[in-house]
Amino acid sequence: MTEDIKLYFFQTGRIRQREVNIKLGGGQGEFYTPIPWFLITHPRGNVVIDGGIAVEAALDPVGHWGDVANVYFPVMEPEDGCVNRLKEAGFDPDDVKFVIHSHLHLDHTGACGNFPNAKHIVQRREYEYAHTADWFAAGGYIMKDIKKPGIKWELLDDEDAFDLYGDGVIQLYQSPGHSPGHQSIMVRLPNSGSVLLVIDAAYTFDHWEDKCLPGFLTSAVETAASVKKLRRLAERENAMVVTGHDPDAWPSFRKAPEFYD
Ligand SMILES: [Zn+2]
Repeated sequence: MTEDIKLYFFQTGRIRQREVNIKLGGGQGEFYTPIPWFLITHPRGNVVIDGGIAVEAALDPVGHWGDVANVYFPVMEPEDGCVNRLKEAGFDPDDVKFVIHSHLHLDHTGACGNFPNAKHIVQRREYEYAHTADWFAAGGYIMKDIKKPGIKWELLDDEDAFDLYGDGVIQLYQSPGHSPGHQSIMVRLPNSGSVLLVIDAAYTFDHWEDKCLPGFLTSAVETAASVKKLRRLAERENAMVVTGHDPDAWPSFRKAPEFYD
């Protein structure tokens, strides 16, 4: 059944912000970043990773996000919502068994409340921090998304290298620093080999290659340590590295309905 394992790259539009919000010490010019999310098909059940931006933010950016929309503005259409894009690619939202959240920032909670049969997996530290965030980080968590009714949460208690199906195909590695409970996802595919979804542990290859720090983080020390750890993981299994919001690298990847298998 391994021929059923495939990785699809999707996008819910872009966010417009200033360069300094992405690259610490950067300029005040406008900077657009893609908002990726992913689907993994697996014989034991399909898995959505993050789901991008909630569709409500396309309909009413300031109403749904509040003041943070003055800093990070969602440039997306309602059709970009993850459920619509998933259906367009031929998938049934009812078949999604798990949603994995790298973390719970506003551009990673698009799946919340949209997949009735899915368990939502997140690190407990992230879930708790979303509810108790410091003043400088609180704007990044939209509680209207996280508290949607009917979400079945499965909280990982400080677990590293959590193997979703026990077969090594989808393995979650703690990578804090961008947020306290951030995790990155290694996907091991039958033909394409390993793909490391770094997510926001490194927005761009500038962060991945230690050229600059990201424009948002909760701990610079943890951010640097997580990149070091993930680079070692990627090197060990020669993984294809996918950075989180990288306007230069993102166009080079295959997008749904194309896939990696
Ligand atoms: Zn984030």
